[in-house]
Amino acid sequence: TPMLQMKGIRKSFPGVRALKGVDFRLFPGEVHALMGENGAGKSTLIKALTGVYSVDEGTVHLDGSPIRIHSPQESQAAGISTVYQEVNLCPNLTVAENIFIGREPRKLGRIRWKEMNRAASALLADRMQLHIDVTRNLESYSVAVQQLVAIARALSISAKVLILDEPTSSLDRNEVQQLFAIMRKLKNEGLAILFVTHFLDQVYEISDRITILRNGEFVGEYMAAELPRIELVSRMIGKELHA
Ligand code: ADP
Ligand code: MG
Ligand code: MG
Repeated sequence: TPMLQMKGIRKSFPGVRALKGVDFRLFPGEVHALMGENGAGKSTLIKALTGVYSVDEGTVHLDGSPIRIHSPQESQAAGISTVYQEVNLCPNLTVAENIFIGREPRKLGRIRWKEMNRAASALLADRMQLHIDVTRNLESYSVAVQQLVAIARALSISAKVLILDEPTSSLDRNEVQQLFAIMRKLKNEGLAILFVTHFLDQVYEISDRITILRNGEFVGEYMAAELPRIELVSRMIGKELHA
């Protein structure tokens, strides 16, 4: 059974039908790519799932049980860890604080603060091969580093489902490979990963399954091994793709 199953999801904004009855399912131990041109509804589907938006219609099952999620906090508590496309970090907090925000006592004593910094350093080094001073403010680092911090934060939350909305947009080739290595390890451990990207070459490289959206409509779900040719996928998405 799927770890996550969404059926018939509809969501409108004033003047825009962003999701017109979208189905999506995600199995444990797989990377499922959600593809579609800019504006296709990918981020809206994720936000409808994680309680950023309410859904107009449709059902969600998590681990076989129907669930209604009303806020990102509820979503995280239910075992869904998400990196949103607009990375929601606090530039004027330290890197370590950004990683552990909301999970540590507000007033950290000296020792807990040291522990938090040590844990943050270890996490970034182990998971991202990133060796930076975690006591510096996040804003003192590049956008790519900030993206890696957001991903590390999501990985540090124990979850059944990991959602990455265009996590590679600011990363260079090496950083993308680093991320893919982590994703492979996590899926082999049984995590269900939803991966959003524009880049078809990344889809071919990392995904087991692909769902395509176009203009808020569900085009189809495919096994990566039997993915149609790039030109065909381009046509399904409605745009030229770079392979
Ligand atoms: P994608 O992530 O595939 O690029 P989005 O889910 O961001 O697409 O957007 C899908 C459609 O919904 C777009 O037409 C977008 O303008 C619209 N949309 C998304 N979020 C909002 C919002 N908060 N208010 C109004 N329209 C929105
Ligand atoms: Mg977009
Ligand atoms: Mg988006």
